[in-house]
Amino acid sequence: MMKDYGKPLPVIDEYSKGYWNLARQHRLSVQACRQCGHRHFPASPVCPSCLSDAQTWEVVSGRGTLVSWATFHRAYWDGFRAELPYHVCLVQLDDGPIVVGNFGSGLLPGDVKMGMPMQVEFEDVTPEISLARFVPA
Ligand SMILES: [Zn+2]
Repeated sequence: MMKDYGKPLPVIDEYSKGYWNLARQHRLSVQACRQCGHRHFPASPVCPSCLSDAQTWEVVSGRGTLVSWATFHRAYWDGFRAELPYHVCLVQLDDGPIVVGNFGSGLLPGDVKMGMPMQVEFEDVTPEISLARFVPA
């Protein structure tokens, strides 16, 4: 499955590489400001709160609350066509910002409720990239 992953992959750059290194170890992280402690996501060259460029990555629990999800019925990339409809969710982390991911383990919208406790799991899609999925906690 890993070798014919046909979906778009994230581009790892100097700002996001800390996240992807931790994701490869199946640890969810968010960017944190060394100046003011603000935690944010996705990666940014400066803190959105105080504009400091002293940023680091902090591992979070991976637990949170389901705040929304969307179901895609159209494939904007060919790699998603076989999985239509697919689902993208937003999870408010217990110890961080809202993050975006997919439902994991074949979870369907009928299986979840708004406000449900969720936890992260990771899927290794290439040797470098592990993607965050969310399942009920
Ligand atoms: Zn800051």
